[in-house]
Amino acid sequence: MTRILVTNDDGVFSEGIKLLAARLRPLAEVTVVAPDREQSAMGHALTLHRPLRLREIGDGVYSVDGTPTDCVSLGLLWLLKDTPPELVVSGINFGLNLGDDVTYSGTVSATFEGTLMGIPSVAFSQEVAKSFSFERSADFAAGLVEVLLRNELPEDLLLNVNFPASEPHGVRLTKLGRRRYQQSVVQKLDPQGREYYWIAGKPVWDESEGSDQDAVAEGYVSITPLHLDLTDYRGIESYRWLQEQLTSVG
Ligand code: MN
Repeated sequence: MTRILVTNDDGVFSEGIKLLAARLRPLAEVTVVAPDREQSAMGHALTLHRPLRLREIGDGVYSVDGTPTDCVSLGLLWLLKDTPPELVVSGINFGLNLGDDVTYSGTVSATFEGTLMGIPSVAFSQEVAKSFSFERSADFAAGLVEVLLRNELPEDLLLNVNFPASEPHGVRLTKLGRRRYQQSVVQKLDPQGREYYWIAGKPVWDESEGSDQDAVAEGYVSITPLHLDLTDYRGIESYRWLQEQLTSVG
């Protein structure tokens, strides 16, 4: 029996995860383990300093009062520990996760956790603009999962998929784009006259041919293969000077 663990960061009651799980159920035994409330921009946070509650709220559907990473941990290390799934899927997120977003994104971080535990993992995110359709994207996601399940997958498979709001022209394999924030922190005063801060700002994308941002802007489904080895291999050579200068330290 093929099994799929489904999670997200928008919460177990969000439309994106309900539709995704529904479309995947004809393909596999689906277990949904997702946060009991929105946990967007939680990144790869793991809850270690308090207990977690796992509640079965439907047939094979569980909520957790924790992060997306907590959900994958409870899914893989507890609920499915004797029957590991073939795939971990996350989403469909309400909003894109492009470029540097992947490091903040709970949606994508959940798939980091799946891959770290040796399960091929795929994150799905949706551009929200006029004429977007979770139904259309969930159909596409199920088609992609069906194709993946027909193939022998490397256990470190990690795909970040973003859907354009419009009907897609096709699919592009892409690299992560680069984004700069024009204004990142706003300072204001509260009613007591004390300063408070709000992290905000308008993203500006670098022009970058072949990026995920480009593909979605041009109306394509973007599939970015990721890996979790953050090593800068060129740096092992190019930072030799650091090693040399440190021989005189300490
Ligand atoms: Mn989200």
